[in-house]
Amino acid sequence: MNSAIFFDRDGVLNEEVGYLHEISKFKWIDGAVDAVKLCNEKKFLVIVVTNQSGIARGLYTEDDTKKLHNFMQTELEKFGAHIDAFYYCPHHPEGKVAAYRKICDCRKPEPGLILRACKDFDIDVAKSILIGDGARDIEAGRRAGIGKLIRFQGGNLFDVMKNIWR
Ligand SMILES: [Mg+2]
Ligand SMILES: [Zn+2]
Repeated sequence: MNSAIFFDRDGVLNEEVGYLHEISKFKWIDGAVDAVKLCNEKKFLVIVVTNQSGIARGLYTEDDTKKLHNFMQTELEKFGAHIDAFYYCPHHPEGKVAAYRKICDCRKPEPGLILRACKDFDIDVAKSILIGDGARDIEAGRRAGIGKLIRFQGGNLFDVMKNIWR
């Protein structure tokens, strides 16, 4: 089985700007690219799990989200790093767009995104790590049974990640 590092996206890999969907507003958190590269080198799968209720709210589309994720991947590749998969929840119980308006099992703190990734990639949750900046990230990880949960408080992400293998 594989081990994975699950990253929340906004506020962990990139600066939180609120309903991010424009590439022009995308900015990496300090040390984020090196952090991903380190996980690649350590043979952990790198999986992004992110709530994107802006899709349900009609602020942007799944296509916008996919384009942003492709951009992130392209930027990482320039530095020899990569994300293995992106999982996002487009739902919200009070969403404006009917197709996404629902109580789902994937909006964190629900563990659905993590569990889906575990199935797709044969991941051993107990040997995996989750890093998030919000309480609901940590709760989703706990419900999924992730072995190590890290609350990112800001600062340099690489500094946090390198401590894992120190
Ligand atoms: Mg966040
Ligand atoms: Zn969902």
